[in-house]
Amino acid sequence: MSMAKPFRKLVSCVILDLDGTLLNTDGIVSDVLSVFLVKYGKQWNGKATQKIVGRTPYEAAAVIVEDYGLPISTDELLSEITPIFSEKWCNIKAQPGASRLINHLRFHGVPMALASNSSKENIETKISYHQGWKESFSYIIGGDQVTSPKPSPEIYLEAAKGLKVDPSSCLVIEDSLPGVTAGKAAGMEVVAVPSLPKQTHLFTSADEVINSLLDLQPEKWGLPAFKDWIEGTLPIEPWYIGGPVIKGFGRGSKVLGIPTANLSTEDYSAILSEHPSGVYFGWAGLATRGVYKMVMSIGWNPYFNNTEKTIEPWLLHDFNEDFYGEDLRLAIVGYIRPEANFPSLESLVAKIHEDGQIAEKALELPQYSKYRDDPYLKSSPQQQSS
Ligand SMILES: [Mg+2]
Repeated sequence: MSMAKPFRKLVSCVILDLDGTLLNTDGIVSDVLSVFLVKYGKQWNGKATQKIVGRTPYEAAAVIVEDYGLPISTDELLSEITPIFSEKWCNIKAQPGASRLINHLRFHGVPMALASNSSKENIETKISYHQGWKESFSYIIGGDQVTSPKPSPEIYLEAAKGLKVDPSSCLVIEDSLPGVTAGKAAGMEVVAVPSLPKQTHLFTSADEVINSLLDLQPEKWGLPAFKDWIEGTLPIEPWYIGGPVIKGFGRGSKVLGIPTANLSTEDYSAILSEHPSGVYFGWAGLATRGVYKMVMSIGWNPYFNNTEKTIEPWLLHDFNEDFYGEDLRLAIVGYIRPEANFPSLESLVAKIHEDGQIAEKALELPQYSKYRDDPYLKSSPQQQSS
């Protein structure tokens, strides 16, 4: 997944975009618009998402007015939806790895700026809900403080000025095309972390495209490396998901020889959308059998539309029988790698087995083994819902 150009410039500062890069804003946009458009007899279909990501609030509103044929002006739309968005800002979650990155750079004294097409006031409000963020940035600049927002380089050039550094010593981290274009036009190195799925191929101008902030390797740019990887794994804040085991697509056991215990994603699209696709591991509790080691992939299901992610856990244990319908509880405690394409089925199977071995070994480490006794893995569905 990581595509990097061979020659990189070393940098000393980092300039970060906010929406979609540090904050999981896309979910809020869909939430607000799907409720709001009903008022005008329209249905949000997510199709405009690609056009509005990375744009200023005004530009995004103009796209919505036009694409949905709303009988109001862009200004009227903005004044109607701005208060609705403001109410939701306290609920916007940090992207996985965002706080880890900010804390890491701050710990190592790497100067950081925040450059967003949002207004300065809105930026300050949004980051106020995330502990330690505001004070980590030496400089913050909003789209209302420049003549031309992204994709113009102006905002990034101003951010470099604010940091009192040359643009060429800055690394930009961006989720959108306008943002990547702006960073490159400013003469900076740019890592793209596309917030919309299946967009990697569009980011050819970026110096590197990564799947999520969890995959960022600052040392590639001359910045201090993360030291929190352990034996090929990255500890993450544990998260939980569970439900009855359903039949998958038969790929796991029939094609790969790896029987996965699939969960229905119907009720879990919200939680899955918060987590980058990739290979994770943790513990799996089966109501009547016990707790087992588990490795799993989160990915985009080609059978559904773009917004549907699936989760495919592989319990690292030989079972004598199927257990469809049984209640499965997962505690996901670590990350291994992004999803990848493989040249052959054999190499895919080999990689999955390697993932399994990494998980098997890592789960013996105290920082992961302690979750084996997590009450969630052993509670019955009734207990959970009460
Ligand atoms: Mg963005």
